[in-house]
Amino acid sequence: MKIEIINTGSELLLGSTLNTHGAWLGQELLGLGLRVQRLVTVPDGDPIREALKQSITDSDVVIVTGGLGPTSDDVTREATAEALGVDLIEDEHAVRCIQAFFDRLGREMSDSNLKQALHPVGADVLPNPNGTAPGVYVPPRLGDSSCAIFLLPGPPHEMHAMYHAEVAPRLKALTDLPEDYGVTNIKFSGIGESSFQDALDAKLHKFPELEVGYCARPGELDLRLIGERGVRSQAAELAMNTYPKQYINEDGLSLEETVVSELGKHGKKLALAESCTGGRVSSRITDVSGSSAVFTHGYITYADEAKVEMLGVSQASLVAHGAVSEEVAREMAKGALENSKADIAVSVTGIAGPAGGSDEKPVGTYWLAIAVRDGDAVRTSAEKKCSPHGREIFKLVAGQAILMKILRQLKPV
Ligand code: AMP
Ligand code: MG
Repeated sequence: MKIEIINTGSELLLGSTLNTHGAWLGQELLGLGLRVQRLVTVPDGDPIREALKQSITDSDVVIVTGGLGPTSDDVTREATAEALGVDLIEDEHAVRCIQAFFDRLGREMSDSNLKQALHPVGADVLPNPNGTAPGVYVPPRLGDSSCAIFLLPGPPHEMHAMYHAEVAPRLKALTDLPEDYGVTNIKFSGIGESSFQDALDAKLHKFPELEVGYCARPGELDLRLIGERGVRSQAAELAMNTYPKQYINEDGLSLEETVVSELGKHGKKLALAESCTGGRVSSRITDVSGSSAVFTHGYITYADEAKVEMLGVSQASLVAHGAVSEEVAREMAKGALENSKADIAVSVTGIAGPAGGSDEKPVGTYWLAIAVRDGDAVRTSAEKKCSPHGREIFKLVAGQAILMKILRQLKPV
């Protein structure tokens, strides 16, 4: 089924309003197993007519957002009737609903609002409990078109509610997709997209009727599987078994949400000792609701003295090996564990750059260490990594590595 979205509004092209409707609808439709083939953004006025005429000849379903308001530049209804070659008529029930909306607000309804009760002859009026502009549904084969058309209001909360109540059920009825058709998005970290696809792509394409997609971000890689549930779960298992150490989740949660949830499930408390990430990871952990139950301390020990004073790192290690070293990373993690009384402590120390690198320790080098209790003793392990792509990406990627370290401690493979 070919689906197009037309987002209308001059403000979207002037840069004053971010077009969030395109991305939002794309995600919602994907959840139904449907893909958008084209997304068009047009200013208010005549360009809406042009875009609509084009889209209804090219597609099976067109979703238009915005331009249902009472002002002269809101012409989506008129443009739709014109494109279909049908008249507009007033819907009495819609007039009463608009009147009732103003009554609830204690405001006078203006005559220009009456235009919002118009709809193309033969179309359905979609109720809008959250605003004055009702939506419109044009079923296929009305007037000159064989395309189904949805006209939705611009304000995000009105559009979202109308999509869920009126659009999604109609789209499901229009498609002949099996009930369990849908999308699985699996997150991995610590693997490049080319190696990932070299190892998996050919195998994944052997699954019948499965659409496979990849999306790489700094420190994270998504594998998108679209198809029937049985095939998706077999393919997901294959991917997970190929990269078990890199696997994060497939439930849509962020890495930090998964880490907080696993800490809770295992009844473990976490402390962090951050140098080069400047508290970024503690901030991500505390973005998650419920983190207070599992997160005790975030030590930001940027200067050498802070590492010594707050974490008990030895001056001798700093002098002999430097702040970015295995020894210091281990001592930071151990100190954080002992001072906080947490069950797991993770540390990071590195060179974000662009200055400060050397042949021995190039820009982007960082050491991670983890400390856990082993009876009365403390056990530490450390790992060296490198991300030489600027401070922002460095912090993000080092943060991912820290969170993955905690996740693998809780869910080893
Ligand atoms: P409209 O119904 O076109 O007059 O839009 C009403 C409100 O919704 C305005 O504040 C718009 O900026 C906002 N809006 C319309 N379209 C979008 C969009 N694609 N993304 C985000 N906001 C939008
Ligand atoms: Mg508008």
